[in-house]
Amino acid sequence: MFSRSSSHGGSLVLTGYFPGLLSGILLTVILAAAPVGAADREFQVGNSHIELHSDERIAAASDSIWEDWIGTAAESLVNVGGRFPESHLEVHLHASRERNPVAFGRVRRSDPVQVHLYVHPQARLESLLDDWRGFHEFAHLLLPFAGNDDIWFAEGLAAYYQHLLQVRAGVIDADEAWRRMFAGFQRGLDDPSGREQTLRELINPAGM
Ligand SMILES: [Zn+2]
Repeated sequence: MFSRSSSHGGSLVLTGYFPGLLSGILLTVILAAAPVGAADREFQVGNSHIELHSDERIAAASDSIWEDWIGTAAESLVNVGGRFPESHLEVHLHASRERNPVAFGRVRRSDPVQVHLYVHPQARLESLLDDWRGFHEFAHLLLPFAGNDDIWFAEGLAAYYQHLLQVRAGVIDADEAWRRMFAGFQRGLDDPSGREQTLRELINPAGM
């Protein structure tokens, strides 16, 4: 289904996680970024060109699960928006020490736009697809960067669409999507740190 070629790159990112907001909100701070080489694998989704760049531990896992995972997430986005929102996208896969199949991710609004995902090198395709985090980052591509003041809106929209994309990809059914969304709302309601605050205040405590 997809074609291949070779190489890799890497970068270091710190993430702050705000439990309880919708199904999870990631605020990322870039500490350093190493230059990246040619893509390991390249494929088309609709008219869009997607490059996969993997660090060594992931590139060493020779099966096709990474492109199957990314290809599925990208195609689910076409299913929602009618077309893939970027004509050229780089996806950077970094090995994570966390137990989760996907530890976290972020979108970098460079040219071309980059999606960075921190993954368990031995993750199975089924668990990568079941994890919301990959779909969440792809959902961010539905909107241009809204600016830091409006990050609450961008994160809320991505937190909604991550489930919709999983349904469109056939990974979960609609009932499960609603269950996960409701559980996210409930975590927010149960989290005392957000009492009396709007989403905007909670996510951007400096007050803009
Ligand atoms: Zn996000």
